[in-house]
Amino acid sequence: MSDLHLSWVESANSAETPFPLNNLPYGVFSVGDGLPRCGVAIGEMILDATLLEGEGLIRMDGAPLFDAPSWNKLMSRPRADWDALRARLIDLLAQDGDPALKDNADLRARALVPMEGARLHMPFAVAEYTDFYAGRHHASNVGTMFRGPENALPPNWLHIPIGYNGRASSVVVSGTEIRRPWGQLKGPNDDAPRFAPSQRFDIELEMGAIVGTPSDGPITVDEADSHIFGYVLLNDWSARDIQAWEYQPLGPFQAKATATTISPWIVTAAALEPFRADTPAREVELLPHLRDCGPMLYDIDLSVTLAPEGGQAEEIARTNYAEMYYSAAQQLAHHTTCGCPMRTGDLLGSGTVSGPERGNRGSLLELSWGGKEPLELSGGGTRSFIEDGDTLGLHGAARGNGFTVGFGPCTGKVLPALPDPYARG
Ligand code: MN
Repeated sequence: MSDLHLSWVESANSAETPFPLNNLPYGVFSVGDGLPRCGVAIGEMILDATLLEGEGLIRMDGAPLFDAPSWNKLMSRPRADWDALRARLIDLLAQDGDPALKDNADLRARALVPMEGARLHMPFAVAEYTDFYAGRHHASNVGTMFRGPENALPPNWLHIPIGYNGRASSVVVSGTEIRRPWGQLKGPNDDAPRFAPSQRFDIELEMGAIVGTPSDGPITVDEADSHIFGYVLLNDWSARDIQAWEYQPLGPFQAKATATTISPWIVTAAALEPFRADTPAREVELLPHLRDCGPMLYDIDLSVTLAPEGGQAEEIARTNYAEMYYSAAQQLAHHTTCGCPMRTGDLLGSGTVSGPERGNRGSLLELSWGGKEPLELSGGGTRSFIEDGDTLGLHGAARGNGFTVGFGPCTGKVLPALPDPYARG
């Protein structure tokens, strides 16, 4: 386990900040009416990467990387270039590094922007979005509710990380308000479906892995690991009543297409390297092309908070990313087996991260066991599913020796459904 690396940006040196020098996550920010720019979180500040590139302090060969408000240009390059930029940023921000920025008061004042007051945008352009179902506790819980305990895990589940192709267009950044969707619903006791606002709107606590270097054709698990640029928190908003009616035989469709919220900072795979963790013991040996080639998960504490309209946020679940059965590298390798090309900005949802106990469940569907055991909120009231005005938040932190690698919040407030979108007055 590595130690805190000290920066001359004082606010980066506390044990509590999510953004010490060890982290250096990448985002896109704007201030006031200014255009969005690429930035790096350091303590309570954002380092303006677009400005630093313009000033010649960070320079890669060839065309500029930060002249557009996304990190895709850097992401598309080989891993060696990611490492070179990270090394340069660490050198410029370390207490004992290159003084070019530290000792230039004018440049420092322009290049470091207080995070408070800055607006955060999507950190990268999402090329495509795939969502997996790779948490065993979650798959067992949901399978038990939907199909009964004998058929909880589908027969393929222990052999391949199963997933579906989602919608890149639905991915939004933390803070974006989410409108309760309408859809076709049919409960088990209903004679016929009806069109109505979802009454069982839910979250899914997930990690999102972001593909950097593109590929064309099958890649191994080991290669896949080196194509993953970084990670974000990901909330796969899910309308359970729409899902239950539509999902067989082709999987989720409208139930998952309202929105998917991600945290605003890309935490690089390099920053997470000290927190590697093993996948669980294999009940069935994986075929060679999907076998683990080292500890491929990360020890990242995850939690969910719920704040009712006008109320305090309270924690409703706590788990760890190391609970997953399949790593992002195994998911990415599996994704390419048929020859599927992967692009810079492809986003892979891990699947809901649940743990073994009730308090470890990463969705309200599981926490309330399909509404049969509503959650008691400490501020009063109960929840089976999300109510209008609730703000749901995901939080993630990897804890080192005296420092924390955090992700920043992944939140969204749920607004009431609009009137029937097809009604004509
Ligand atoms: Mn999901």
